[in-house]
Amino acid sequence: EAVINRIAAGEIIQRPSNALKELIENSLDAKSTNIQISVKNGGLKLLQIQDNGTGIRKDNFDIVCERFTTSKLEKFEDLSSIATYGFRGEALASISHIAHLTITSKTSDEICAYVGSYIDGKLQGPPKPIAGNQGTIITVEDLFYNMFVRKKALRSPAEEYQKISEVVSKYAIHNANVSFSLKKSGENNDIRTPLNSNHVENIRIIYGNLIARELIQFSCENDALGFKANGFVTNVNYSSKKMMFLLFINHRLVDCQNLKKCIDLVYATYLPKNSHPFVYMSLEMNPSYVDVNVHPTKHEVHFLNEEQVVEAVVTALETKLLGSNN
Ligand code: ADP
Ligand code: MG
Repeated sequence: EAVINRIAAGEIIQRPSNALKELIENSLDAKSTNIQISVKNGGLKLLQIQDNGTGIRKDNFDIVCERFTTSKLEKFEDLSSIATYGFRGEALASISHIAHLTITSKTSDEICAYVGSYIDGKLQGPPKPIAGNQGTIITVEDLFYNMFVRKKALRSPAEEYQKISEVVSKYAIHNANVSFSLKKSGENNDIRTPLNSNHVENIRIIYGNLIARELIQFSCENDALGFKANGFVTNVNYSSKKMMFLLFINHRLVDCQNLKKCIDLVYATYLPKNSHPFVYMSLEMNPSYVDVNVHPTKHEVHFLNEEQVVEAVVTALETKLLGSNN
């Protein structure tokens, strides 16, 4: 059974940055305003995330790493949110099967924090009291220690760290009210965004002023199609060899090649050959419109009326660019 669990977990968590994405989302779901991440050896030796959110109660330590344990489906209607968040209650369970996982957490009504460790998804003894502030520290050590082949197939620690850094950057830009930091363990922060910042400021902090100073705000809404889009995109004075596309659908970081390509094409009219924009976009739509069948690691999504939505976004963007080009 341990082997089956391990294989299933390895499909959900394919590299350290997948695990981190899930952990960041958990911290955000727990209403954290400060999220600090520390990494050793590209996340393979250590991946640690500390938040100041609601915390996990001592009594829940033994179940949070069981499959399908989630505190996030309280009402029946919430089932539709499965559409937004993909599989429910699988992240911690998966990680606990393929790494040494330790949870330290304190809720507001407990007088101290508790710490518990997991092996093969099982809590090793009752949580022990320990000093700590409200919130949660998730420590993931030796990721893939029991998956020899996966470990061999991974890229260099530097490349894994790069992926981790991209994930943190994107969440920090989207959640500009939350303060984020990322560092290699024992070193200085590579990323640090302040509390209650804004999207443009965080783009400046992370990607630099060259991009930030050329940003224009973009928004478009369509009731008939049931979506809203908001974001910041570079104007036609900016161009880069590689397209930067940060897309969130219902606050989850996703890929949508179709939308990406169409947006790039809009810019192709204005930018020099082989040049591309920077685009940060947040789409919100009825969760039941987003494809339920996306697997957590297959970040590529499809949604209802995709062609019409893409068309509407692209048309609005075209109008916006025309307006900013005189
Ligand atoms: P899901 O997020 O889909 O519910 P997870 O496996 O990611 O499933 O997490 C399981 C449960 O553990 C969550 O529903 C939540 O109750 C709790 N949890 C995980 N991380 C945190 C955190 N950082 N702060 C508070 N609770 C957490
Ligand atoms: Mg989760």
